[in-house]
Amino acid sequence: MNVGNIEVQPVLDGYIVGRLQSTQPLPDQGSDAWRQQHGMFRPGGLIESTVGGFLVRAGDRLALVDAGLGQDFPDGYSPPRIDPNDLADTFVRHLRERGVTEQDFQHLNDDFSNIQVSQGQLPASLRALGVDPEEVTDLIFTHLHFDHIGWASAGGSAYFPNATIRCASADLDHFLPGTEEDFFTTRVYRSITVAERLGPVLDRVETWEGDCTLLTGIDVRLAPGHTPGSSVVVISEGIHRAMLLGDIIHCPLELMDDDFNLLVDYDQDLANSVREAYARELEGSDVLVAASHFPGLQFGRLLPGESKRRWTFAAD
Ligand SMILES: [Zn+2]
Ligand SMILES: [Zn+2]
Repeated sequence: MNVGNIEVQPVLDGYIVGRLQSTQPLPDQGSDAWRQQHGMFRPGGLIESTVGGFLVRAGDRLALVDAGLGQDFPDGYSPPRIDPNDLADTFVRHLRERGVTEQDFQHLNDDFSNIQVSQGQLPASLRALGVDPEEVTDLIFTHLHFDHIGWASAGGSAYFPNATIRCASADLDHFLPGTEEDFFTTRVYRSITVAERLGPVLDRVETWEGDCTLLTGIDVRLAPGHTPGSSVVVISEGIHRAMLLGDIIHCPLELMDDDFNLLVDYDQDLANSVREAYARELEGSDVLVAASHFPGLQFGRLLPGESKRRWTFAAD
């Protein structure tokens, strides 16, 4: 995909399938709204999130926006099964201290049993685009969730040895000391903590505090809510523009319908208002849009509709 002379290419790392809470039921299978999600909504209320990043060639810079989940597990992924009575398990103690009941544990185990994770493809995806990790000049994070920073390091060393690491200072301040999410993601998705992942590259981190131009043709706009420093990456040249929305939305339906949200945000009210503002800005514009978890990391456009907006993937 080209934005003027800037080339933007999806770089797949894998996917996560699981159940997410939402403000409204998922649309009926076979309905228009369901079809417009391009297979993200699976039977049984499961949602498939593609994971990876976007390679942006702008002038002499080769930037990667978000970096997937990271190295594959040597023995594959298997979901956790929690024994609510195992008080030697710190995860169980932690949940119990937070008032999780016997019944909640049952639901958690049901949800965990549906999780599928595939990761580790990003190096091969980059190779297919003719890119060596040494060539990447900038690693730009829309936010610091585990499924976006996975290839910041591998085996305790920087995976992109020459890249400047760029993220919002608000996210670095929030995630580095350790968060509740680390506790969950290390157990459920078998990730390492944000501090462990970024440790090997911390000396190369440059942060932004507000909206700014990072590189020629690549701007960031703070869009907090999903995380304190969540940001949108705007790619532009001349009259051409595209936006990488990060996780301010997960599925196109969240742009189509102001009442539909997946409940995955740090500050839900703020995230809702950010989402609605972007939906209004994008509706009917010619800006190509992708979010971090869209199927196949495809771009699309938000079209005005009679009652609700419509979404169309660029390939449709
Ligand atoms: Zn996220
Ligand atoms: Zn994410």
